[in-house]
Amino acid sequence: MRTLGLLGGMSAESTTLYYQELNRLVRERLGGLHSAQLLLWSVDFAGIAEMQAAGDWHGAGAALADAARRLEVAGAQAILICANTMHLVADQVQAAVAVPVIHIADATADAVRAAGCSRPLLLATKFTMEKDFYRGRLAAQGVEAIVPDQVDRDRLHAIIYDELCQGVISAASKTEVLAMIAKAPEVDCVIFGCTEIGLLLAPGDLSVPVVDTALVHALAGVEFALS
Ligand code: GLU
Repeated sequence: MRTLGLLGGMSAESTTLYYQELNRLVRERLGGLHSAQLLLWSVDFAGIAEMQAAGDWHGAGAALADAARRLEVAGAQAILICANTMHLVADQVQAAVAVPVIHIADATADAVRAAGCSRPLLLATKFTMEKDFYRGRLAAQGVEAIVPDQVDRDRLHAIIYDELCQGVISAASKTEVLAMIAKAPEVDCVIFGCTEIGLLLAPGDLSVPVVDTALVHALAGVEFALS
């Protein structure tokens, strides 16, 4: 089995999902006592979030690139950035290491297409919903994601940072996000495009297929590790 290097802590709430899912998938594939062979560099998210809010993407990218180098030196054979938003600096991280950075948007596009869908609603941070690094990468793979309106994008962003990333799961916020989904015109699936959204909503809450980016990214990691 190959060793995966996780860049986690963004937030720590969703890194636990990755850890659980990576181990569950390896046990499912190999059986018995098998579990995933992992290295984890878990950041203090406060500093990263400050750089995001200030628009200092180069600084945030440099911090992740430094952590990725440390994971590579320690033996990681691929890197997973355990968040969608920080894929804004995926190229900067990739440039710092010789091993591949397994891109979450590629795993997401593959999962959307595998579900037979092409018009997903993307639920994510404002950075992921509004900047081109993510929707552009999906579009290049034939997946045209639509996003909620400005008011809902602002509210969803606040729910992610002020609640989900801090371990707060609110029934009222769940109702709000379900209302955002119900308003979306003619979508054929929903992308949980922030790795914490699976803590708030479950696929059974929705009448259309769900692509949970944390889960499909973990799956892509396991496929690499076992290939
Ligand atoms: N984990 C989130 C994501 O998937 C948000 C936190 C972050 O900005 O990294 O985008």
